[in-house]
Amino acid sequence: MKRIVLTGPRGSGKSTVGPLVARALGVPFVDTDEEIVRRTGRPVEEIFSTEGEDVFRNLESEVMQDLPEGPLVIATGGGAVCRGENVRVLRRDAMVFFLSASPEVLAARTWGSTRPPLTGLSHDEEAAAILGSRLNRYRAAADVCLRTDEKTPDALVRAILDAAVRGPLSGAALPGFLSFLATTPMVESELAGIKNRIDQGKTWYNGMFAVIGNPCLHSKSPALFNPLFAKYRLDAHYTRIEHPDIAAIMTQFKAASMKGLSVTLPFKQEVIRFCDDLSPDAEAIGAVNTVVQCGGRIIGSNTDWLGIRRPLEGTLPGEAVVFGAGGAAYAAIYALQSLGCGVTVLNRTPSRAREAARRFDCASGVPGDYKADAFDIIINATSVGMGGAAPPLLLRERMHEGQTVFDLVYTPPETPLIREARAAGCTCIPGTELFVHQACAQFERFTGITIGPDEVRELI
Ligand code: NAP
Repeated sequence: MKRIVLTGPRGSGKSTVGPLVARALGVPFVDTDEEIVRRTGRPVEEIFSTEGEDVFRNLESEVMQDLPEGPLVIATGGGAVCRGENVRVLRRDAMVFFLSASPEVLAARTWGSTRPPLTGLSHDEEAAAILGSRLNRYRAAADVCLRTDEKTPDALVRAILDAAVRGPLSGAALPGFLSFLATTPMVESELAGIKNRIDQGKTWYNGMFAVIGNPCLHSKSPALFNPLFAKYRLDAHYTRIEHPDIAAIMTQFKAASMKGLSVTLPFKQEVIRFCDDLSPDAEAIGAVNTVVQCGGRIIGSNTDWLGIRRPLEGTLPGEAVVFGAGGAAYAAIYALQSLGCGVTVLNRTPSRAREAARRFDCASGVPGDYKADAFDIIINATSVGMGGAAPPLLLRERMHEGQTVFDLVYTPPETPLIREARAAGCTCIPGTELFVHQACAQFERFTGITIGPDEVRELI
């Protein structure tokens, strides 16, 4: 049996149902808050009010690190998922439940609590604000999301035990899911592996994931995510779904209760209409490359911009030029503006450059407007250079030392633009770095686990 971890905000019911689930399974129960009290001999309220939240969180992390191996039911404090190191431990060989309720119910259940407030807000406002700020962390770190508003503790225990026995993938929909996969051009051994496991009545406790696109059979993402799942002891599987119809894919995604999707061309815009919630980044960029499902809700977000922002974080904000006005350019403009850079977008088709400039309130023009002295950062978000085809977007004479050049094109790794930029003495960032950093962010949105770029570089 997997160990069971209950997360969620204060008032969600973890400490009430945790002991009941443990008793039903005949395994020990650990409430991490109670464990802190036992170790320190002091109530949680006192630690919070005399030493502050950070000290409490450090004690909480120590308790997590010391949790014994083997079957156990664990109820965590409400903020435990905010630390990546905690999520890493909690997710190991476990099934994680996010217990949730409306802010009103959470506030009512914790009314009169002696815990010191974490914000300067009223009790009711604080319940809503804390749930809102942690919601995506809870969703990422969980395999199953359960609402507790209108459920009795007994009904909750039954729901948890049921999911713990059969896994989070919904049994009834799995034959339809398999038939659908069989209509896609999937690698035969991959399909046989999935079918075999489902036929044996086993699914994946930590969920099924896929890259979706048309085409996407060439995607290297399974070779990245599956080893990462194994490394962090998650019983999850990542596959490829190549299909022309996004509506058909999303029907199966919902029905089979898959946990997450990487979205690639041509679906990054179209998938938005299937999302119940959009992150601010996806809304601003107008594209979704990451989808997570939790408690039947579909949440769309974008990690491409982080793949552009993170490699540039050491570069001082300055004037940046983005060549191109497609989806990659939008992610680049958003990333640059988040770093405080001034942005000019230059595109072959002037109307598309103007449209981008209107959306992001930046300058625009055509590639001929480029002036080497005007820019500190150059980003190529066009497909020029793909496959190594000459001529490069810019020749070395038009770049100089002190400029940073980021070519989003990643085949070949040394594109004609990067070759010219190196010769001009620029700092160069290859397109593979976008993939690496966006994948780190995507893994975190899928699992709640923070990983470093070197872990991804090693695997690709
Ligand atoms: P897109 O929406 O199709 O946009 C393509 C852009 O390239 C448009 O602005 C287009 O200009 C311009 N363009 C195409 N051919 C051109 C030419 N011969 N001369 C000048 N401009 C030209 O594509 P996208 O999704 O934004 O992707 C753009 C590039 O980013 C692609 O090369 C892709 O490989 C790369 N990318 C890399 C990663 C990564 O992980 N490294 C991720 C995403 C994208 P018009 O508007 O005038 O047609």
